[in-house]
Amino acid sequence: MKVFTIAEGVSPGATVSFLNFESAGIVNMPCVIVGEVGRNRFEGKVAVEPEAVELDIDTGESNISDVRVALSKDGVPKLYKADIDDHERCLIIVRTPIGFRGYAQHTGDRTGIFCTNELCRYKADIAPMAEVPQVCPSCGEENTVLIKMARWPGENIATGKIGEGPQGLTAGAMQFVTIMPKGEVFRISLGSDGTKKSGSTYYCFDGENLNSLTWSERRLTELF
Ligand SMILES: [Zn+2]
Repeated sequence: MKVFTIAEGVSPGATVSFLNFESAGIVNMPCVIVGEVGRNRFEGKVAVEPEAVELDIDTGESNISDVRVALSKDGVPKLYKADIDDHERCLIIVRTPIGFRGYAQHTGDRTGIFCTNELCRYKADIAPMAEVPQVCPSCGEENTVLIKMARWPGENIATGKIGEGPQGLTAGAMQFVTIMPKGEVFRISLGSDGTKKSGSTYYCFDGENLNSLTWSERRLTELF
């Protein structure tokens, strides 16, 4: 399956790190790492078979671009050199950052709406591309209708966490290595609590490319 990285934007492939466990005589063990080390932070790692690693002569970086995920002999997910063309899913390294005192939210597509008015509690399913009403159809209140999102559709094989501040408590965000099925729409929303601004990007793997669009671009293009 093809490999993509989501960081500031989408890029093909992913960077590989090399770990040494000198006390065990292991050097340069290729690995994909998400998250970071520190207080209230942690790393997630997936081992990579050396044969799957490609050297980029221009940048000197080691990358993976096409892999197969299987369990190692110890039953842990590991990335192997791809031996068949698999376009039904892709592997995504989600290295989304966090904004200043911000957050990153990872969800599926829009599935419904609900009213925040406690006396109303209206909820309904909506088509993903449907317009969200400004006024609640049940209680008639303005700006009480929020969007309900589906759960993250990826199968995470590694999870890490990045943080902000020395204690990692100012802000935090999860990062993943995830297997994403073709045709599944997912969303990453980056926000900053300081400004209450947020920006959502929607993604969908079409079997070849990992396409990304903002909400308004998605409505305009009808790509997914
Ligand atoms: Zn209502």
